[in-house]
Amino acid sequence: MEDFAQFCIHGDFRAAIRAGNFELAAVPSSSGHNAMMLRLAKGSVNLNDFHLSTLSDLLYILLGLPMNRRLEVLLALMLLPGLATARSASNAIVVRGARLIDGTGRQPIENAVVVIEGGRIRAVGKSGAVKIPEGAKELDLRGKTLMPALIDLHTHLGQTRNGLEAAPGSYTTENIRAQLERLLAYGVGTVVCLGTDEDPIYELRDEQRAGKLPGAHFLTAGRGFGVVGGFPPGVGITDRYRPQTVEQAQAQVRELAAHHPDFVKMWVDDDFGRLPKMRPEIYRAIIAEAHRHKLRVVAHVFYLADAKGLVEAGVDALGHSVRNLPVDRELIDALKARGVIYIPTLVRDESTFAYADGPEWLRDPFFQAGLAPTVLATLESAPFRDKFAANPDLPRYRAALEMGKRNLKTLIDAGVRIGLGTDAGPPLRFQGYFEHRELQLMVESGLSPMQAIVAATGQAGKFLGRAYRVGTLEPGQQADFLVLDANPLENIRNTEKLSAVWQAGAPTRPISAP
Ligand SMILES: [Zn+2]
Repeated sequence: MEDFAQFCIHGDFRAAIRAGNFELAAVPSSSGHNAMMLRLAKGSVNLNDFHLSTLSDLLYILLGLPMNRRLEVLLALMLLPGLATARSASNAIVVRGARLIDGTGRQPIENAVVVIEGGRIRAVGKSGAVKIPEGAKELDLRGKTLMPALIDLHTHLGQTRNGLEAAPGSYTTENIRAQLERLLAYGVGTVVCLGTDEDPIYELRDEQRAGKLPGAHFLTAGRGFGVVGGFPPGVGITDRYRPQTVEQAQAQVRELAAHHPDFVKMWVDDDFGRLPKMRPEIYRAIIAEAHRHKLRVVAHVFYLADAKGLVEAGVDALGHSVRNLPVDRELIDALKARGVIYIPTLVRDESTFAYADGPEWLRDPFFQAGLAPTVLATLESAPFRDKFAANPDLPRYRAALEMGKRNLKTLIDAGVRIGLGTDAGPPLRFQGYFEHRELQLMVESGLSPMQAIVAATGQAGKFLGRAYRVGTLEPGQQADFLVLDANPLENIRNTEKLSAVWQAGAPTRPISAP
């Protein structure tokens, strides 16, 4: 029930079905099956995304249908690979021999066996402890390490073409598609785009759910909430909600909710006191109205006091580190009591000053592999570096990263939920590479490689919700995983040793491929 309800935002799905407002269509799904699709008046839901556990919910819906439609839907369901009982075993793929990190934080399984069917994991365990379906295709991955594909809870799409400038006209389907493909090639299976999207994103999301858009899966907060004359500043972010009264905030959340975003994003910051900041009564109104629409809210935050106010107001996630002061008991207790997830985005803070020094990772072939031509030359050029180094805010930026790292260590030790995010996508924040760099910065902050991996997989997937079935390699989950040539628990930089990226049970080409 829960899965279904989560996927079908606001119960519109049930309403649409009851009203007979749907049609059935066969569509090719990303796992290669012919999936049956229920196409709704608004948006669509791919039935192949549902597992047997949702059958009771489907039956519940069926009872509400007129008899003729009931038969039609039942016939369609019988044709679904995920729901048919008599299935040919020849579809199954068995991956054996590798070390498996499942994303939950449990100890890795050496010499693991993973059975994949219909794009999902059917069984996983030690060699000898898992029943192998007859006629399954077997793949020997001895010497490799498997881990779930990365999830980035804080990104932006379509903000730049070359990674250097926010050129107007970057927000196009073709550019977003290229970015999603690059993210997947870097091993990032799912991203959440926080607040910089334009309305065409919803059509693109429908296309992706219908299996027609390749690359990393994305969720969107649509247009986010900022302040007139304040955050979010900058070119390429011109079309945000900027409510000035509680009533406007409520009305604008309702307008946003009509598009069925996956989250609501808002910015609560004042750029070191230089810009107006969102007032508490406005963010309280946004959060309350969003929750009325069953939408969760992620807040951009910088200051400890704002983090406390936001958590008190019911925010669901903090989208950045607290960077002005050490976190204290009051915030820790509130985060834990309310189950709020904290998304540090350390790499974003690093990127605000690192180019002045020419960071070591500019020479990393894994970083270079994702760059457009001439970008590296610019990043290494004296004029670029000098201009960057002349920014008087650099000392504050360096201090902000140090405080963010220190706070992350305090929070993970205290048992606060941590999710990986990068804030990649705007100029000079390179999608794909930054997710790996974030893992490294988490480990530099004092997390174990396992803690960093869990933040990027199991914890992040849990935050998205069970309907997405990503983040862990367990039965029923989407078979989205990385095949690594070396063990990232020994050295977190081994997540860069990508030998393959699997999405929905099929291998795709990694960025590092020659
Ligand atoms: Zn952001």
